[in-house]
Order: sequence, then C-alpha cells, then structure tokens
Amino acid sequence: MPDAGASPTSLEAKSPYELRVNLGRDVPEADVRTALATGDMGFLHSFTTGATVDGPGVRVVAWTAGCQWRCQYCHNPDTWTMSNGIPVTVTKAADTLRRYTQGLSIMRGGFTLSGGDPLMQHRFAVKLFTAAKGMGVHTALDTNGYYGDKLTDAELGVIDLVLLDLKLWNSDGHKKLTGMDNAPTHAFARRLAAHKRPVWVRYVLVPGLTDDLDDIRHTAAFAASLGNVERVDVLPFHQMGKYKWEKLGLAYPLADTRPPDHALVETVIGVFRAAGLKAV
Ligand code: SF4
Repeated sequence: MPDAGASPTSLEAKSPYELRVNLGRDVPEADVRTALATGDMGFLHSFTTGATVDGPGVRVVAWTAGCQWRCQYCHNPDTWTMSNGIPVTVTKAADTLRRYTQGLSIMRGGFTLSGGDPLMQHRFAVKLFTAAKGMGVHTALDTNGYYGDKLTDAELGVIDLVLLDLKLWNSDGHKKLTGMDNAPTHAFARRLAAHKRPVWVRYVLVPGLTDDLDDIRHTAAFAASLGNVERVDVLPFHQMGKYKWEKLGLAYPLADTRPPDHALVETVIGVFRAAGLKAV
C-alpha cells in the first residue's frame, strides 16, 4: 500500500482503500472556489470499477474528496480533505465514465458518486450526473445527506437512486459518532420521500457503537414511514481503513473494535425487516 505523501496520478484505482493525499494541494485557493461555484472541476479520490454493493448491478464509482463529518468508523479518512483529491474537469470525469458505458449497459449497472461526501461539491456532482444521464447510465448518489438542501428539486431528477447513510438516531450519540447533527439528513430523507425519489438506506453496524437495538428501531421506523425506501443495506464494520488512520497520524478510536458477528448482523437486519423494510 502506498505511503502517505506518495502521489499516484492515475484517476482509476484498484479500490477506494488506496491511500491518496495532497493530490490537489497545488490548486490555488481561488481556483478551488471557482471550481466549487461552477462545478466545472471537481476533486476526486479515484474511479473504481466492478462494485456490486453501491447500487443495482455492477457499478463504476467515482469517489469524491471532501467531507465535513468525522465518523469514528470512517474507512476513508483521506477523503475528508478536498485537497487530497485529484483535480479533474467534469469533461475528463465524464470521458472516464464513457469508457465503461457499454459494459454497464450489459451488466445492468450504473454510475455511483460516493466519497467523502459528494454534496460538498454539489455543482460538480450535478454536472457529472447530468452527463451520465446523457449517456443513458443509471445514476446513484451515496451521501450522508447533510447538504441535501443544496440540490434543487429539478436536480434531484438526474439522480435515479440515493444511497442515504443513516447513522445513529439519538442526536447526542450521532454528534459523538460523526461530529454533526442528524436533523439535516432526516430533512433530506423527508424531502426525497415527498418527491418520491428512490432511496436505499445504508447502515454501518459497529459493535458497541451502532448496535443499540432500540436506537436502530427508531431508525427503522423512520425509514419505513418514508414510503420510498426500497431496501436497507446493513454494512458490517471492518478494519480495511485502519491503516489509513495510522498513516495519516490520526487517533483511531476503533483500533481495537472487531467486526460484528453473523448473529448480530442478522439481528439488526431483522429489526429493519420487522419495520416492514426489505433489508439485506
Ligand atoms: S460521512 Fe462518510 S466519508 Fe464522511 S466521515 Fe462519515 S463515513 Fe467518512
């Protein structure tokens, strides 16, 4: 695995677990502001291919750099900082995606924008989704939802599916887990429901941290009440991102946390199913 400070330049990566830092650090601040305002340029950790867990079918995933949350279980802390990402014009990003369109069509897959949080660069996200739709590609946005209000109602129309990351229901616990309030995420979820936009909920299950069944019942009841949640993915915590915390010199609060066992995963899936949701 590459060392912090190494400078891989390829936009395509084998996996998002490649550590990538400082790839956009030479972009002047004024250019960063222009990029954010226009969406003509974005900052990407990488493109990866072959994912089957980030939306329906086989997906091409673009991983954005930049996230204001600080989840204790984050697998990709190198994507917290926008300047760690590769500066990429929206044209180049679209051209990269275009190379895969035939295969995506055959495999009934699509394009997913993940991160980081893609809505940190919402103008770029909308332009890239619009380009993807122009290629006839199914689009999915993986987001914590905090900046959902940056998207207009019309812009929601270029996103076929939202993969909405719900974390803890209890607001104090959520702040401790992520550093941020969960009310904006819930507001975005309600707005997506009002517009009947398809949503898959993602729930990262961490023993001792996000395994309180009463808290999960609240999240499940909320998700079920929306009426537009097609499925819930319970994602078992793992330690593939641990080395990133170490390489970046970050104190990793979950260094000794183990993945959930099969029984706990099945129990939590059962909580979502008991609320009337399809859960896997
Ligand atoms: S929202 Fe996602 S990218 Fe941001 S800190 Fe949390 S897990 Fe990491």
